Amino acid sequence: MKCTICPNNCNIDRNEQKGACGVGNDILISKYYLHPFEEPVISGTKGSGTVFFSGCSLKCVYCQNYELSRAKRGKIVTPSELADIFKTLEDAGASNINLVTPTHYITGIVKAFELYRPNIPVVYNTHGYETLDGLKIIAPYVDIYLPDLKFCSSEVSLKYTGKKDYFSVATNAISYMLESKKTVIENGLMKSGVIVRHLILPENVSDSKRVIDWFAKNQKNGAYLSIMAQYTPFGSIELFPELKRKITKKEYDRVLEYAQLSGVENAFVQDLTSSSEEFIPKWDF
Ligand code: SF4
Repeated sequence: MKCTICPNNCNIDRNEQKGACGVGNDILISKYYLHPFEEPVISGTKGSGTVFFSGCSLKCVYCQNYELSRAKRGKIVTPSELADIFKTLEDAGASNINLVTPTHYITGIVKAFELYRPNIPVVYNTHGYETLDGLKIIAPYVDIYLPDLKFCSSEVSLKYTGKKDYFSVATNAISYMLESKKTVIENGLMKSGVIVRHLILPENVSDSKRVIDWFAKNQKNGAYLSIMAQYTPFGSIELFPELKRKITKKEYDRVLEYAQLSGVENAFVQDLTSSSEEFIPKWDF
């Protein structure tokens, strides 16, 4: 079958060749563990049962998980082994099963869920560059959407990802997510809902403001905006001098002040001290 699961629409047989996501049909993962550094309603006290998938269909130049997104590491797991990993994380007390960058493996992940359906919420943690067709395939298994909304400007998204259409594609996908999930939080843990993440980038406050405007206008069903400050220079940024530093306190404050006045109803704000390589996990495979 030819792969058209994401907006890259490669239309190739991944049993024979790799797509723009950099991987074939085999599911590659680089780590699974109880992740303590997600939003408090996702990590809880014991951690989010996070599975990091290798390869990526977006590939930001500054990717904070660069080796993974470029599929430079990872081990192959079958759907049955992935189902066992879900169970292992759940047995270890995970607050949820958190699928990080799962888009290019949607069909394989669905096979894993058909073998084992966790009794804890499932988080679909994505860059936001999704097709509605792909999302609808995995929707029956998802409780919480955790999409990024990285850029508004097509110039910025073109510069950092090669995709001019990022904003229109991502907002279409996020609108679908916002429509489909109502926020439910019990005992400090999210059971259902949407958290839209935005990572503040250096020299990019005006684009952050436009992203906030979009969220303020389109927020629904108690969804949260999560403003992230953990940007750390990383990846393939030689050609982008502005990306070679962390964000400044001034940039951080300007974005937060704007968000406070923008009409955003629910938000998480990451502390500025989070911009450290300590927040990038050590990969196992
Ligand atoms: S998932 Fe990979 S192969 Fe399939 S359309 Fe997207 S980039 Fe291409």
